[in-house]
Amino acid sequence: MDKKIENLINNWRRRNILGFYCQNKDEAVDKILNIIPPSATIGISGSITLDQMAIVRQLEERGNKVFNQYKSGISREDSLQLRRLGAAADYYLTSANAVSEKGELVFFSGWGNRTAGISYVKNVIVVCGINKITPNLEEAIKRAREYATPLNCKRLANWNTPCLKDGICRKEICLLPEYKRMCCQILIIEAEVAPDRLKVILVGENLGF
Ligand code: SF4
Repeated sequence: MDKKIENLINNWRRRNILGFYCQNKDEAVDKILNIIPPSATIGISGSITLDQMAIVRQLEERGNKVFNQYKSGISREDSLQLRRLGAAADYYLTSANAVSEKGELVFFSGWGNRTAGISYVKNVIVVCGINKITPNLEEAIKRAREYATPLNCKRLANWNTPCLKDGICRKEICLLPEYKRMCCQILIIEAEVAPDRLKVILVGENLGF
């Protein structure tokens, strides 16, 4: 494990956050399947990282109840209800938009289910590829807003945001009525009161964006 990663995991330790390092996403999948009991209910957030790991399918196949708001064919109201249930599940599984070298975790959310789940679910697992590490908190917020959110807007395409076409954040016009802002809520986790409630699985490869 290189020094930067070792330092990051130590920094999380000081913040009551339990960090693990996995060399690749297959190791990370095994780690998640070991941490979460098969009887647990699970809430999830939309995440390319989780999609790349195919972790939701694997959890469902072994019997976990996943409140999956992305099931095809469900109504908008059912999708919102699954988000509410997910934010009160036994576990919440998500990825970070960015992580500072000092250990601060940055999350953006549109609907707020992600910020709710991460803030208060009894057990939270955050998966994070090494591509999301930034030198400091300011850069982490910048990365989440100016890099990750425009790519998410492109991915979801139905969010008419100023950044949709060219990937440039124009937050000064994003509240105009013709737009639908995506990055409505920002959550910065600096530390935890309950030791190990929040676990971060840092993966030694690029995952998500
Ligand atoms: S504030 Fe608006 S333009 Fe900027 S990243 Fe968020 S959604 Fe895009």
